Amino acid sequence: MRLELKAFTINRTRLSERMTELSKIGQIGETGVARLAFSAEDKLAVEKVQAWMKQAGLITRIDHFGNLIGRMEGKQSTAPVLMLGSHIDSQPYGGRFDGVIGVLGALEVVETMKEQNIIPNIPIEVIAFSDEEGSRFNKGLFGSRGICGMLEEGELDRTDKEGMTRREALTQFGCDPEKLSESEYKKGSIAAFLELHIEQGPILEEKNSPVGIVTGIAGPLWATVEMEGFAGHAGSVPMSMRQDALVGAAKVIVALQELTSKDPSAPTVGTVGSLRVFPDSRNIIPEKVSFTIDLRDINIKRRHRLEDELKSKIDAIAHKHKLTYTINEDTNSEPRYCASWIQDMMENEAQQIGIQAPKLMSGPFHDSLALSYVCDYGMIFVRCKKGISHNPKEYATIEDISLGTELLYRSVQQMQKRLDNIY
Ligand SMILES: [Zn+2]
Repeated sequence: MRLELKAFTINRTRLSERMTELSKIGQIGETGVARLAFSAEDKLAVEKVQAWMKQAGLITRIDHFGNLIGRMEGKQSTAPVLMLGSHIDSQPYGGRFDGVIGVLGALEVVETMKEQNIIPNIPIEVIAFSDEEGSRFNKGLFGSRGICGMLEEGELDRTDKEGMTRREALTQFGCDPEKLSESEYKKGSIAAFLELHIEQGPILEEKNSPVGIVTGIAGPLWATVEMEGFAGHAGSVPMSMRQDALVGAAKVIVALQELTSKDPSAPTVGTVGSLRVFPDSRNIIPEKVSFTIDLRDINIKRRHRLEDELKSKIDAIAHKHKLTYTINEDTNSEPRYCASWIQDMMENEAQQIGIQAPKLMSGPFHDSLALSYVCDYGMIFVRCKKGISHNPKEYATIEDISLGTELLYRSVQQMQKRLDNIY
């Protein structure tokens, strides 16, 4: 299903041209982008978007977290803001669309409002959050957690591969790491947050839908399992007498795969992505194996049930192979749901423009995750080719991105009406 061009309010050409121009900053190869957080390329990209914001008549600033913010004043300048945005930093071997469509799409929305002579009641802020990816300092959502007052101890002391601390990188970027608290948003000062983002998964493509409405961000359970048996000579210990930790681990990996595939209609996913074998030698029976578990689901009850089932599987497997084991939880975060009133509104707006926007959960994190702790939020996903992301092969058509942006534009108009009644 495709919208006729005349039905668009937003300016598709402008959006497309900006996307192309931004993709040249930190370009790698034909289609890739490397814009690590707080790097020279990142700075250039921020300055470029800032110039566009100014052109659109926004009041801009770069806060102490390195977030770029463009504000469209509302009739009630002291009211909480409606915030729109995402990020423009990238993975070291990333694509042109991840984050970018959410920032340039948001800018397109407010610029279109200006052109339509719409003055919002409450202020609208377009934000490009700093260091969403977390690739450089190994911990992401920096800018978004920052403004929500959610940074943890020692975050400024984290170092990149060259040994530069985040504090130094921030200073180099032009920020003052001693003044971070000045850039936090006070409780209640963000009315709601909307983010447009590529799906980074294959569901919309499979459903043949250009855009989707996100129901929430699945909370992952990250755990490390260690199984211990007894090493022995691979040539002499009879099979019946072995305590092979790797055999146990292999059975657990299969069990996780089976448990998470049981209900094909559920979005549950389970992955063992890292495995360490000790002593890791071809002629020694593995004595110790540790591996990671990544389990995600939008339904926390179902996830808890699967966790319990997995635990009893691990216990049974360990017993059978005479192994001991430990399970350590590294991260256990709950799913964060998009506000249902925002989902309904988006669904309604999608219908208005004749597109079917299925609802789907987000497996990956986004800046929205941080914002979900301080305000209602909603997300629109745009179909991307084969679900490929964090890769120069990442691709979404400008038609789909424009549809997502149009839906964002229309949603913002509806939200303004709704928020008008509150503030
Ligand atoms: Zn992203």
